[in-house]
Amino acid sequence: MYPTYTGRYDGDIPFNDRVDRIVTLFSNGSINLGLLYFNEPDHSAHSYGPESPLMLPVIKKCDKTVGHLIEELEKIDLFDKVNIVITSDHGMAEVSKNKMVFLEDYIDLTCCRILANNPLAMIWPNNDEETQSIYDSLVNAHPNLVVYLHDDIPKQYHYQDNKRIPPIFAVVDENWQLEEGKNTSRNLRGQHGYNNSLLSMHPFFIAHGPAFKEDYKMKPFRNVDIYPLLCHLLGVEPSPNNGSLDEVKMMLKEGEAIVTSTAAPSETTTSPSKTTKAAHPHDMVTLTPIHIKESLSINALIGLGVACFIALIATFLLVAMCIKQRSYRQPAYEYMPIEDTSVEGQAALRGPHASYFYPNTKI
Ligand SMILES: [Zn+2]
Repeated sequence: MYPTYTGRYDGDIPFNDRVDRIVTLFSNGSINLGLLYFNEPDHSAHSYGPESPLMLPVIKKCDKTVGHLIEELEKIDLFDKVNIVITSDHGMAEVSKNKMVFLEDYIDLTCCRILANNPLAMIWPNNDEETQSIYDSLVNAHPNLVVYLHDDIPKQYHYQDNKRIPPIFAVVDENWQLEEGKNTSRNLRGQHGYNNSLLSMHPFFIAHGPAFKEDYKMKPFRNVDIYPLLCHLLGVEPSPNNGSLDEVKMMLKEGEAIVTSTAAPSETTTSPSKTTKAAHPHDMVTLTPIHIKESLSINALIGLGVACFIALIATFLLVAMCIKQRSYRQPAYEYMPIEDTSVEGQAALRGPHASYFYPNTKI
C-alpha cells in the first residue's frame, strides 16, 4: 500500500501552507488519510532548550497552526467529520556544554566505526576480537556514560533483534551529551534520545473526531500502539508490528465493542499487530494523552514540557468521500522511492569503512 501523493520534505514551507495543502486534498475527496509534519518546537528547542522563554513564541506558532487546521476544516464543514491525531515521537531535555562526554577521551576513535548520534553512540569495532577491550575501556569511563554489549542492551529499548544494532551501544544520562570528539560537538541547549522511561522523553497525544470519546483521559500508552489504532480507523489490515489496538481502543467510542483476537503476546517485530501486547508495560516511548481542547491553551502545551512536536494528523473522511476519491484525484506529486538505509546498502554506497548514516535523520 503506497500513498497517493507524497513529496520531498521542505522545511521552508510555512506551517499554514502545509495545513492548506492537506485540507485542499481532503476538501475535494482526493485522500482519506493525510500526514503532516512540523519541525517545531523540536528545532528551536535544540537551540534554546525546552525551558527557555524563547520557546514561548515557538509554542504559540505551533498552537496557531493547530488553530488554523481547525478553522480550515470548519470552513468546509469537515472538522466534526474527520479524526485528528496530534502527537510526537519524543520529548526534550535541557543540555549544556558543562555536561559533555567525549568518546575520544577513552578510546582510539580509529579502532572502530562510530555512529555518534548524541546522546547515543553505536560502535562497530574494526575486529570482533577488540569488542571486549573497547567495551572495557568505556564501561566505567564516566559516571554518566552507560555502555552495553549487544546482548546486554535492556529489553525496554527493543534494540537487539536487528542486524543494524552494533556490538557496543552507549548512551549518557539525562541532560548529558555524548560526542565522538571535541571538534564534533555542537552548541545544543536541548536534546532527546535518552532512556525512554524518562518522563522528559515522553511525547503527548491528542485526538479529536467522531471516532473518539470526548473529554476522555487515559493512562499512558506506547507510541507503537498508534499504528494499529490508525489502521482500525481507516479499516485497513495492519502489517506486522509491535503495537496493540487493545491498549488504545478504550479511547474510541466503540472501544468496548471492539473484539481482538487473543493470540499470545510477542516482542518480535513480526507479530500481528491486532494481537500483540509487549511483555513490558513501560516499553518504548510512552504517550501522555490529553484532549484536543487543551491544545489550544499555550500553558497546557508548556506544561507538557515542550514535547518535540511531530504532528501526525491522521484523518479519514466519510465513506462517501472515499468513494469519490478517484474521480477527484489531482496530478500526483513525484513519488520518492524510499532510500536504502540498510547496512549493506550504505556499505555499497560509502565503502567498507564508512560510517552508517540515516538520510532521514534530522534534529
Ligand atoms: Zn530533534
